Amino acid sequence: MKEIGFHKEKTTGRYLNPFDDFQPKELPIEVRYDEITGVASRILPYRVRPAQKPDTDAYLEKSPSSICPFCPELFDKLTPRFTSDILPEGKFKTGEACLFPNAFPYDATNTVAIFSSRHFIPLDQLTPDAMRDGFAVCRDYFHRIAEMGQGYQHCSINWNYMPPSGGGLIHPHLQTIVSKKPTNFVRRLIASAQNYENASGGANLWRNLLVIEQEACERFIATTGAISWLAAFSPKGMAGEVDFYFREKTSFFDLTQTNFEEMLEGLSRVFYYLYVNNFMSFNLSLYATMTPDKNFWVHGRIVPRFEINPIGTSDLNYFEKLHDEIICPVVPEQLCKELQAYFTAQE
Ligand SMILES: [Zn+2]
Repeated sequence: MKEIGFHKEKTTGRYLNPFDDFQPKELPIEVRYDEITGVASRILPYRVRPAQKPDTDAYLEKSPSSICPFCPELFDKLTPRFTSDILPEGKFKTGEACLFPNAFPYDATNTVAIFSSRHFIPLDQLTPDAMRDGFAVCRDYFHRIAEMGQGYQHCSINWNYMPPSGGGLIHPHLQTIVSKKPTNFVRRLIASAQNYENASGGANLWRNLLVIEQEACERFIATTGAISWLAAFSPKGMAGEVDFYFREKTSFFDLTQTNFEEMLEGLSRVFYYLYVNNFMSFNLSLYATMTPDKNFWVHGRIVPRFEINPIGTSDLNYFEKLHDEIICPVVPEQLCKELQAYFTAQE
């Protein structure tokens, strides 16, 4: 089977340690590069993770329900509606969830979906029941867009949960994008799959990636039905990255209700892990094509986000912003082991 292009190199940092009478100290650094994603990272096993429970009350005080445009009192007054050609009722509603146009769009079609009228849902309460309607209303919207036949090829469901990840409101909400062209990162993934197919005599990159990762038993977290959960080899965030692939699903519309349940079950376990480990925030994207494309399997990526105390330092820095490399003090293989315990535990 053709290799999938994971590279790593070891290097060592050296200094005389002020905390040990200036004795020589060596620290291992692993430089990683993933040819599929193009993500370069530095894995630093000596760094620590957030030790204190995050202060979510401070956010609630600054952004109470009384001034929230997604809470019932202001919702109808302050949220945009669709034009009648898309939906005469103005907003998509599924159960408790509601989807409407983004008031600050960054594409021709950019929407926001709230899960319910609930203003704040802590990480440990993001259960399948709490999330089901929110993802379902995005699916209903994508069906409507496909039905309109305007040539959209790519769709994604995205989530900035809480302000450290870029969330502008604490009221939990998803954002969708549909587009005719892929985003920069998705274009890279499709090109990687095409290159792999050409170089391997027709093999599928995503199928082989999952087979190789499952056999290696280093970063393969678990399976929930049709979904394989992995810790990314070279993560896109300082606290690592969790990926989930819907096996053999080559279009958003291949996903069944059962597949959504499998995803919600896995997500709730990842979020509970984040809660227990003092994270307060994450970015999530679920990427898909809207017509079948064998070079792109439907999949999602989750990057935990956090503030570094005591002064609320950002987890983004010049190395990521301006050199396009990630400093990651969480070892992906360790993250995998820790998450496995959450996937084997019974509810
Ligand atoms: Zn609210």
